[in-house]
Amino acid sequence: MATELVLLGTAAAPFPVPGRAGISSALVVDGRVFVVDCGRGSPSRFADAGLDFARLEAVFVTHLHADHIGDLPGMILYPWGVRTGADGPLPPLRVYGPSRPGELPEGDAIFHRETTIHPERPAPGTADLVDAILAGYAYHLNVMPLDCYMPDAGALVRAVDIAVPGAAGGSAQATVLDDAAVRVTAVAVTHGRAVPALGYRFDTADGSVVFSGDTTVNDDLIALASGADVLVHQVADLGYLGRHGTDAAELERMRALHTDVTEVGGVAERAGVGELILTHYLPADPAAIPEQEWQRRAGQGFSGATTAGRDGLRRTLSRSGS
Ligand SMILES: [Zn+2]
Repeated sequence: MATELVLLGTAAAPFPVPGRAGISSALVVDGRVFVVDCGRGSPSRFADAGLDFARLEAVFVTHLHADHIGDLPGMILYPWGVRTGADGPLPPLRVYGPSRPGELPEGDAIFHRETTIHPERPAPGTADLVDAILAGYAYHLNVMPLDCYMPDAGALVRAVDIAVPGAAGGSAQATVLDDAAVRVTAVAVTHGRAVPALGYRFDTADGSVVFSGDTTVNDDLIALASGADVLVHQVADLGYLGRHGTDAAELERMRALHTDVTEVGGVAERAGVGELILTHYLPADPAAIPEQEWQRRAGQGFSGATTAGRDGLRRTLSRSGS
């Protein structure tokens, strides 16, 4: 029995690139599988990693940008047929994520919407998203059981909106899940206009793993990650983007969205984690910046181990400490 981290996909941004799937990670705790974010290709990477869809218990969404939820429908719908046991349907897959924001952010002269999509509910939360996925796939869910043995679609999924930690002066950390084997704690992180955006910490008998989500350097995330065994952190090279066509106005926005490769080692050092594992590469294309370069630059200022994550990378946290 152990806790194992598997990186399913490590690319930032929605645009598909060869060689890296979209951002998604799995944590396996004594055979129970938890997934953080469902970017492009994550159900296929889940299968590639040899993980068991029947053991998938919950998905934790950091925020509702498409690169983090694009394959959430697939993660819910593709394994439907195996989500059954001797006693009927398995317990529903739980999807935890941000609640609706209080209001839809405004733009400015440079960055703004032209059309507001779905003005009746322009800023949905996680439960709204899951509800909309079921509505959009209602044909499949209602018709497939007439031609195949399928578990009750009513037991397929349950969404759980997480109230924004730290809102209304409350604690900066919110316990999302707490049972005998795993405790999941969330904080609000800072990702531009994407509010709320969350980071998650998993504590098990074997150790602790923290997922940054997408964020600038954030004191609440550093406090959340304090003393963790592994910090899985997003990384961006804003200098590279500036040299390859991103203009000054957009770069300024990027600085309010992401932690730069020159900053992430300092984050890991302040948190005092054992290992920093890089993910959510921006630029995403593996041909843009070699892994060794990411690793070398990100590790500056950090006295622990730095690893350039890649799709399929595994880390086992062992209870015996061996
Ligand atoms: Zn992202």
